[in-house]
Amino acid sequence: MSENIYQNMGISDPVFALGEEVLAGLSERYKEIDRIAEINQMKVLKALQDNQVSEACLLGTTGYGYDDIGRDRLESVYASIFHTEDALVRPQITCGTHALALALMSNLRPGDELLSPVGKPYDTLEKVIGITPHPGSLAEYGITYRQVDLLADGSFDYENIRKAINDKTKLVTIQRSKGYQTRPSFGVSQIGELISFVKSVKPEVTVMVDNCYGEFTETIEPSDVGADMVVGSLIKNPGGGFAPIGGYIAGKKECVENAAYRLTSPGLGKEVGASLGVLRDFYQGLFLAPTVAASAEKAAIFAAGIYEKLGFDVIPSSKEVRHDIIQSVVLRSAERVIAFCQGIQAASPVDSFALPYPDDMPGYDSKVIMAAGNFISGSSIELSADAPIREPYAVYFQGGLTFPHAKYGILRATEELYRKGLLETLK
Ligand SMILES: *Cc1c(COP(=O)(O)O)cnc(C)c1O
Repeated sequence: MSENIYQNMGISDPVFALGEEVLAGLSERYKEIDRIAEINQMKVLKALQDNQVSEACLLGTTGYGYDDIGRDRLESVYASIFHTEDALVRPQITCGTHALALALMSNLRPGDELLSPVGKPYDTLEKVIGITPHPGSLAEYGITYRQVDLLADGSFDYENIRKAINDKTKLVTIQRSKGYQTRPSFGVSQIGELISFVKSVKPEVTVMVDNCYGEFTETIEPSDVGADMVVGSLIKNPGGGFAPIGGYIAGKKECVENAAYRLTSPGLGKEVGASLGVLRDFYQGLFLAPTVAASAEKAAIFAAGIYEKLGFDVIPSSKEVRHDIIQSVVLRSAERVIAFCQGIQAASPVDSFALPYPDDMPGYDSKVIMAAGNFISGSSIELSADAPIREPYAVYFQGGLTFPHAKYGILRATEELYRKGLLETLK
């Protein structure tokens, strides 16, 4: 029966059988993910109830956005979920990079120093910080930057972190997810240990965690283990696939206030900023986010399982504990990378007929291929894959609003490789 459905959807018997075999071995892991989703669903529901979200909260305001109860209530809901004093959750925060830049620029002053004790931050932050010189960077405002790389085994270099903290150190930034690097992603308790260490050296330092891709993958968040601010994008996990734009900063009252004064204006802060028509999507997406993040995580593990079985290196492995929704698969050739991405595209609910191919992208030194047929443009909580066309020919796979769709997407991508004779181990 199910085989027929997949046949109709272009999946051949050997690929379908491989998928079923891999799935059979994942039931214990999936049970654990479901357990986490259940706890997070209750956490979100309780926050919505405790803050008395009403039908009126789902409507929006226009103009200045004074007395926008839905917006203010949503920020209280985020503060409840992250156990923080306050939160800023706005459509005027355009993306994750903007949210992070906002948190940094509003909480640092000339003469301060920013420290990353976990190596190089996410690519787009290089110009924000001024690692790559850029107009408007922190460096231009006289804010210096220091970085301590991870040790070879991926652990924290405590000795050099201690040495790097000085009189000027004001803010410490920790990126939870590996993003598109090869280092491991950090678990929340691991982040907690790092925060405790940093604060034992300098108690008054502000710690910010780049929470992108990590939300709801565990039952606690970095703000539960001492982070003063957690920052992320609403077109990733916490938007649940519904939020059409937006970012959040949850944390200490003073940190959030600083960010609000920078986002709008000193003196105005959180009081202005019309929510227009997006609040229903923000609320509904947040409500769905725990199960959507769980689907995406299951999808990542399924992809890992399949490609392990086919003899490729995958990071992380299907057995490893994971702390985000990103899966990388080292496909070892450009042909395979292109076929994989074309298969993901063909499985999409939107633009399934489009054929992605590698092209030049600003900020990249090699051609890049991107596959996504999304309801929300560029949303990486939806099923998507991308890869730079260069050694080691790794594809980054993420998202999946529902597990059945993500499962199909991975089978469809595998089918593409299979049809083209690019899988030596599946004949
Ligand atoms: C996606 C991401 C960002 C940047 O978010 P954008 O919305 O793409 O600007 C920053 N840090 C990490 C770890 C991310 O995954």
